[in-house]
Amino acid sequence: MNEIATNLTRINQRIAAAADSAGRQPNAVSLVAVSKVQPAESIEAAYRAGQRDFGENYAQELRDKAEALAGLDGLRWHFIGHLQRNKAKYVVPVVSVLETVDSARLVDELDRQTARFNRSIECLVQVNVGGEEQKSGCAPEEVTTVLNAVERAKGLTLDGLMTIPPFELEADETRVYFQALAKLRDQLGGPAKLRHLSMGMSHDFEVAIDEGATLVRVGTAVFGPRPPRR
Ligand SMILES: *Cc1c(COP(=O)(O)O)cnc(C)c1O
Repeated sequence: MNEIATNLTRINQRIAAAADSAGRQPNAVSLVAVSKVQPAESIEAAYRAGQRDFGENYAQELRDKAEALAGLDGLRWHFIGHLQRNKAKYVVPVVSVLETVDSARLVDELDRQTARFNRSIECLVQVNVGGEEQKSGCAPEEVTTVLNAVERAKGLTLDGLMTIPPFELEADETRVYFQALAKLRDQLGGPAKLRHLSMGMSHDFEVAIDEGATLVRVGTAVFGPRPPRR
């Protein structure tokens, strides 16, 4: 468990160094510790080491962990997995940042559920900048429609864009995807409208920071290898 604290210190140092070499402020980039499939004790260990933002991929797992860890003040859950509309009801009551909004139909359901649970959620629109080889996220041509839907929804705040390059790529091959997301943000109104760019994982977060990431989603480099999903 102490290893988690050590890992967090190292990752935060690497984040600060990457921001510095990109000419950015170290606090311009936040770490989202991706805790999917990891036990609640690991999340508590990271929390005790000062980590507050955690990323989860599965709706019911998030619901259960949020309940088990409800006593951890100031902990913020990010949902970073594909969200099916029929599972929005599990996520909406507990999530702070929903990073994977990818359709106007999902926004309609989120609108209903935020009203029902009287919640307000920060949203990132997930974009499939790579086209064919990625399975999740909306196509670049659809982004405006989804952004507009989020802006109209009462319980949702539009907070930025997110992307996941194809998983098999090496760090240097992902750079073009990060550049594409940053360019899209500029075309859609820039940081004044879309504050966050969520991009970069354990193997490539430094590249993502170099291209403007404000949120990096790091799992295995914080928690170690993931146990098999039960
Ligand atoms: C699992 C996951 C991560 C973290 O991946 P690591 O390689 O363990 O850092 C980041 N983003 C998404 C969307 C994920 O599903």
